[in-house]
Amino acid sequence: MKIGCPSFGNYTSLIKKLGDYLGWDTITPPVSERTIELGSKYLASELMCLPAKSTLGSMIQACELGATDLIMYDACGICRQKAYWILQQRALRKLGYTATVHPVRLGLSTPNDLRAIDPSLSYWKSWVAFYKLIRWIFKHEEKEDGPEDTRQVKIGLVGEIYTILDPVVNRDLVRKLRNMGASVHSFLNFSYFISKKFHMRGWMNKVDRELLNIAMKKSHELFPKEIGGHGNESITFTIYYALKKFDGVIHLMPFPCMPEATVSPVIDDISRDYSIPVMRFILDTQTAEAGLNTRLEAFVDILSRKKNKGK
Ligand code: SF4
Repeated sequence: MKIGCPSFGNYTSLIKKLGDYLGWDTITPPVSERTIELGSKYLASELMCLPAKSTLGSMIQACELGATDLIMYDACGICRQKAYWILQQRALRKLGYTATVHPVRLGLSTPNDLRAIDPSLSYWKSWVAFYKLIRWIFKHEEKEDGPEDTRQVKIGLVGEIYTILDPVVNRDLVRKLRNMGASVHSFLNFSYFISKKFHMRGWMNKVDRELLNIAMKKSHELFPKEIGGHGNESITFTIYYALKKFDGVIHLMPFPCMPEATVSPVIDDISRDYSIPVMRFILDTQTAEAGLNTRLEAFVDILSRKKNKGK
């Protein structure tokens, strides 16, 4: 089988690994300007968010390379993302491609979803594949945690996961911040969602459990409703970073992201009430990189002056 799957930042190698284990020929075209262009062209409504367009662009590129089946991530939450595979399937049919799009959920449904793609897989193999995938994810993320330098400006990154994890989509924001001398922390990785699903947040590395519990409680008081996407997490983690005395927070969202836009006023209030600077970046297909760089530099510069003011 030739399975196409949109790449997902530095997790893409794990998708390939999973495909190798299952005996699939996996195609994961890296996100590029062309990917975003293709997706925007064939899912042209400005009301569709950037991840929908970018993943469609990847699917078209995978079809160009001969994919017979396609995987689309299904967040299993209440955001509209869970329905994107339907729109993407329609767009591909209009373009004349016959590949089938399969939504795949991350969680206990993963083995069944894998078998829906490839019915020749045994139950046993699909469960072992799921177990291996979880282990790879945790191992992969362990490698990413570097030592902490207390002199650096500490920035917490909150927002929508796809824009946070894919460097092409976020215009390499994390690397740029690190090159400017800042240390960047984000909770939004795959292990967070696995831990959350299985109610085992303790698996997360470098987390102050006590502060996180306080932040979660406050977050619920401020916004007592599940909004979908990562909106509730954006509130919780902004409070956490404020309590943990981070120097600032970057709120990253694609245009027009419903959950992140809805929680934005709450995050602005947290910024004021907890005295933690928050800068918001809204990314779309037309984001001008020069403008983004200038804002990033200014933000790090201001935080660094503020941090060193008393010294
Ligand atoms: S969380 Fe936001 S960006 Fe992601 S799919 Fe939902 S609306 Fe779109």
